[in-house]
Amino acid sequence: MTSEIFVLGAGIVGVSVALHLQQRGRDVVLVDRNAPGEGASFGNAGLIERASVIPYAIPRDWRALLGHASNRNAAVRYDPAFLPRIAPWLLGYWRASHPDRLATIAGELLPLIEACLGEHERLVEAAGLSHLLRRDGWIEVVRSAATLDEAGRRSSEMRSGYGLVSDVLDRQALARLEPALLPAAVGGIHWRDPFTVSDPGALTKGYATLFEMRGGTIRREAVSRIAPDRAGWRIVTENASHRSGAVVVALGVHSNTLLSPLGYRVPLVGKRGYHMHFRPEGEATLRHAVLDEEIGYVMSPMAAGIRLTTGVELAAPDAPANRVQLDRAERRAREIFPLGKPVEDKPWIGLRPATPDMKPVIGPARRHPGLWLAFGHAHHGLTLGPATGRLLAELMTGETPFADPSPFDIARFL
Ligand SMILES: Cc1cc2nc3c(=O)[nH]c(=O)nc-3n(C[C@H](O)[C@H](O)[C@H](O)COP(=O)(O)OP(=O)(O)OC[C@H]3O[C@@H](n4cnc5c(N)ncnc54)[C@H](O)[C@@H]3O)c2cc1C
Repeated sequence: MTSEIFVLGAGIVGVSVALHLQQRGRDVVLVDRNAPGEGASFGNAGLIERASVIPYAIPRDWRALLGHASNRNAAVRYDPAFLPRIAPWLLGYWRASHPDRLATIAGELLPLIEACLGEHERLVEAAGLSHLLRRDGWIEVVRSAATLDEAGRRSSEMRSGYGLVSDVLDRQALARLEPALLPAAVGGIHWRDPFTVSDPGALTKGYATLFEMRGGTIRREAVSRIAPDRAGWRIVTENASHRSGAVVVALGVHSNTLLSPLGYRVPLVGKRGYHMHFRPEGEATLRHAVLDEEIGYVMSPMAAGIRLTTGVELAAPDAPANRVQLDRAERRAREIFPLGKPVEDKPWIGLRPATPDMKPVIGPARRHPGLWLAFGHAHHGLTLGPATGRLLAELMTGETPFADPSPFDIARFL
């Protein structure tokens, strides 16, 4: 009988779970087929999104919907042959996008979002990673006066509804904050609560190093199977078999590969997304991450250059990369900021693990004692990783959880 806990998956979620269990005195082994932080956690836009309290929904207004349906915009691209394969998931997502349902979901997620900054702060400080963190928010740019009015209304709703701090910026105020932005950006909102990270992969790796420095073990092995046995759990990897008292599945979009054989099938779709880095033209600098909501991309100043990150691509997880969405985003981003040459030849592609109800799965597996789950964070895994780690560790160790875990229970999919 072993009391060790195996955490499978060393993305931001798995690493955070491992740290929180370790902090509660548990003996933890973290397993990943790659080095920590090489999956989706490597290539995201680096926003610790305290301001994003309403999840990304399918628009209900027909103009926006037709825009997506045209398959010509940068925010969403789809492979028409793939959509029938995810039709039930899409239908679920559409239902969850109803304004009433969306408000409920936002309320359920809120305690995790509210905890996101504090939980990252604690880990960043302990791991000595303050140099990766900026604490001065990000900017949503707008391209027309009408959109600026609309953005202003939204920002005051967010202030009164959720206490979010933001400044509405006219062209002059925007230019004071970001002198290099071009006139196509007529104004914006400075969302001041969120943090941003200059190298999300390095952040996850730094958290994993903290876990090791505190005595944790990291194994680099691909897990092929997990099965209950009399001592707890057997974890079968490509070249070994391990025993553990409990297992946490935190494999992001790959979580079903180990859960399906045990009878669990969480509807999980990998919302694909690309990034590529660019040098700035001449002396131009970008100080904040910038979201161009009307077009659908983010530009973030990162250690490797200005990271241009696309919206969502719905295509088979293993389909070859298709540059069309990134090219569209790049063309429109050049209207806003003087991007220079790309840093890499090829874009990075990653998968956001997304459930149809926009909420992660966090908690016990229900049918198997000692099996625990933490995945499905979609657009907000960097944001919610440490808060998820805390919530799951509290559940596993019998502490009073800081947030109601019931909305994240896998029971909703069983
Ligand atoms: C383009 C893009 C932009 C994004 N921007 C943001 C953002 O600004 N802010 C934000 O909060 N979120 C953002 N996200 C979402 C965020 O990156 C993800 O939600 C998060 O990284 C998921 O973390 P994870 O630990 O669950 O998964 P991952 O980071 O994918 O980790 C899963 C791990 O499991 C391992 N694994 C899988 N199968 C096996 C196996 N059989 N054996 C061993 N190991 C295995 C993988 O190697 C991987 O390391 C973005 C995502 C994308 C794609």
